[in-house]
Amino acid sequence: MRTVYLDNNATTMVDPIVVETMLPYFKEKYGNPSSIYEMAHITHDAISEAREKVANFFGANSSKEIIFTSCGSESANMAIRGTLDLCGTKKHIITTKVEHPCVLNTYKELEKKGYKTDYIGVDDNGELNLDELKNLVSKDTALVSIMAANNETGAIYPYEKTAEIVKEINPDTKVFVDAVQAAGKIKLDVKNTKVDLMGISGHKFHAPKGIGALYIKSGTMISPIITGGHQERALRAGTENVPYIVGMGCAAELAQNNLDYEGNEVKRLRNMLEEGILSNIKNARLNSRTKLRVPNTTNIGFEYIEGELILLHLDELGICASSGSACTSGSLEPSHVLRAMKTPFTSLHGSIRFSLSRFTKEEDIKYVTDTMPALIKKLAKISPFQKELSNIL
Ligand code: PLP
Repeated sequence: MRTVYLDNNATTMVDPIVVETMLPYFKEKYGNPSSIYEMAHITHDAISEAREKVANFFGANSSKEIIFTSCGSESANMAIRGTLDLCGTKKHIITTKVEHPCVLNTYKELEKKGYKTDYIGVDDNGELNLDELKNLVSKDTALVSIMAANNETGAIYPYEKTAEIVKEINPDTKVFVDAVQAAGKIKLDVKNTKVDLMGISGHKFHAPKGIGALYIKSGTMISPIITGGHQERALRAGTENVPYIVGMGCAAELAQNNLDYEGNEVKRLRNMLEEGILSNIKNARLNSRTKLRVPNTTNIGFEYIEGELILLHLDELGICASSGSACTSGSLEPSHVLRAMKTPFTSLHGSIRFSLSRFTKEEDIKYVTDTMPALIKKLAKISPFQKELSNIL
């Protein structure tokens, strides 16, 4: 059976070029970068080269601003907890209602430790309410966390503007941006912003799972959450994961070179998928109609049909998609992002995220748009909402 992989916001295939680049660092180039002999110099230099590439990918001023981590969640934890450790008596922190659980659940933990948290809302398009933010930032605000792009809808958030608003009200408030779903899809240019910290994750742009990075603006202080050796400027102890760091450097360079392709071809295919579904399936509606969306993502609600049921049937056709972020799929709770957008209950439980990559082919999209109308009709026939679905039966 053919497989059509449209779940690239959950994770991506490792680019074969990335695999090839990593292999020598498992086999002959395995020296500990902290040792003093030649074999160690090789891995030490490989890390420096990867750090340069990742710094360019962020649009950072210097590779000294980059710390390698194990994933996007670790980058977020390091940024948030590491910042707050040094913020003394300031106990107010702000984020949005639509963040990934790696931020939301960290904030929940911090609430238990006495932090006062505020969550900014979004409108029905998934766009942020920046006026709400303006009213919340005060002299007690230690940190504002905001994502660059939403994992479920692809909506792009104006993090540059957010950082400006925050700094204008309180220049000491730190701003962390979770750019996990923006990296490789839209250009990052962090040096021209007032952002202090930005996190990314390799497996979302064709590097392996298990490697991430955190940008820390020069002069910004955080305390380490993993203590031990002096690695990563003593901010993240532990012998460096050389093959994965090299892989991430390579993937970052490839992703940067492919940004135009993402913005043109991947977007064309995404639009083709969207139009193919919306024009041929009467109960389909687009969640988040904002123009500011990453090029690879669409989130479509199928009214009165259960999303998990659609996913199971898509799976039988070899189509991989998701009903929310990878961490929440598997639960029947409707997505917190769609709830925050006040998505009507009729499609809240029946929303599917399709996310493409530069490896997606036009015939993949055609296969989905050809097979889905019949599938939805079949599911409509067994839905308890026969009256509501009578127009598509
Ligand atoms: N932030 C966002 C927006 C994400 O979509 C994800 C993963 O889906 C993460 C953070 C967590 O990344 P990781 O799986 O590398 O920990």
